[in-house]
Amino acid sequence: MNLPYDDKTCGWYAALPPPRPVQSLRGEQIADYVVIGAGFAGLAAARRLAHHEPEARILLVDAQRVAEGASGRNSGFVIDLPHKFALEHPDPAHKQRLLGLNRAAIAQLQSLIDTHGIDCQWSHAGKYQGAVGERGLAYLAHFEKLLSDLGEPFHSVEGPALQSVLGTSHYRRAVFTPGCYLMQPAALVRGMGDSLPKNVELLENSPITRLERDGRGGHVLHGSAGRIRTRRLLLGTSIFTQEFGYLKNRLLPVMTFASWTAPLDDAQCQRYTGRFDWGLTPADHAGTTVRMTQDRRLIIRNTYKHVPKYGRSIDDAMRARIHADHRKAFLARYPDLADVPFTHTWGGVYAISRNFTNFFGQLEDGVFASACDNGVGAAWGTISGTLLADLAVGADSAQLRDIQAVTGMPSRNPPEPFLGLGVRSRIKLAAWNSRSEL
Ligand SMILES: Cc1cc2nc3c(=O)[nH]c(=O)nc-3n(C[C@H](O)[C@H](O)[C@H](O)COP(=O)(O)OP(=O)(O)OC[C@H]3O[C@@H](n4cnc5c(N)ncnc54)[C@H](O)[C@@H]3O)c2cc1C
Repeated sequence: MNLPYDDKTCGWYAALPPPRPVQSLRGEQIADYVVIGAGFAGLAAARRLAHHEPEARILLVDAQRVAEGASGRNSGFVIDLPHKFALEHPDPAHKQRLLGLNRAAIAQLQSLIDTHGIDCQWSHAGKYQGAVGERGLAYLAHFEKLLSDLGEPFHSVEGPALQSVLGTSHYRRAVFTPGCYLMQPAALVRGMGDSLPKNVELLENSPITRLERDGRGGHVLHGSAGRIRTRRLLLGTSIFTQEFGYLKNRLLPVMTFASWTAPLDDAQCQRYTGRFDWGLTPADHAGTTVRMTQDRRLIIRNTYKHVPKYGRSIDDAMRARIHADHRKAFLARYPDLADVPFTHTWGGVYAISRNFTNFFGQLEDGVFASACDNGVGAAWGTISGTLLADLAVGADSAQLRDIQAVTGMPSRNPPEPFLGLGVRSRIKLAAWNSRSEL
């Protein structure tokens, strides 16, 4: 069974203080509920289960430390709008449901941050969607039409006004949408892990290597130093859900990568003419994401890889090439900051599906999962994890019906080697077509 294998070079994680001492799975355990995966989805699911059943024993188990997985190493956009393909969905009600769910997730995160004083650079900064070349401009025009159809507010920014925000003249135009929040993902996820309800026990560095039916309607989860028996299992394991034998050949493991600079010093800030605390995603999704953090770091994110062995599919030579590509994208935008070094480059794995459909629901008796978010999992993971707990305890709500209406079965992938060939050539073609936006 393939286990998570994330690099140890994530800047967001490195910027945190050392974590509290680890508790891991040991010996024979019995739990009312087990949640595997402590990313956005698993953390939200465990918290909600505790809300429904304050007397239940709930174990939240992760192979790594909290925030070492994708949820702690993303670009930190908590996006209210449906992603591109969902925004193109022909049914307006479908899109309104997605918007409502994402906004409920944002409200939930806001409330947790306020209640527990989580220090994570949380900010209602909105989001710029930026275009560099003709292709990007065409995508922006399409994006504006989709937003108008949806009745969502936005405004266009260009020329000196855009330059005064971004500190670069690299972009021709951007569309600003106000509903997005920015955050430090590792700080947010760590903060949520540190503030779990009392009846949730967090077990980290505890990979589950095998699931077995116990013959009495429950499951036994095997770890290296212990086992857990439970009748209710919730999987917040994203792409790794397929390693447990579920949704086999329906999910695609994809990696994307980010680099960030050292914090700009005062002299460099004199040369940087933009603002702090903004985020820009590319008009064409295969382009480059850029962020300037509250603590003066510039972040570059681009490049997609199909990774059948997850983190193990990436070698040092590939990492060096990605680092060089990030540097090129940085210098194209900020030639006057050529003396600012990158301090960290990292990657992360997530799940997409060929029909852009997310899975949410029951996999078999007593086993539930939210898996696959097509790369925008901060909001989606939060709300889908929450509602998965509702489903598992049998609680009904309008939101639960909404998420059931907008999710479905990811389509089946062709067998290897056709799958790998097809995905790799699609990624290459997208990168080539979007080269102006990289
Ligand atoms: C570089 C990058 C930038 C991104 N930018 C954004 C962004 O700005 N906004 C956004 O919304 N999304 C973004 N994403 C995507 C986002 O990070 C993911 O969609 C999201 O984190 C998925 O959350 P999750 O809880 O479903 O899964 P994950 O965060 O992947 O959590 C799954 C957990 O399961 C654990 N696990 C897996 N197998 C086992 C096992 N056998 N035993 C025990 N534990 C196991 C893993 O260790 C992991 O912690 C980005 C991703 C990357 C990599």
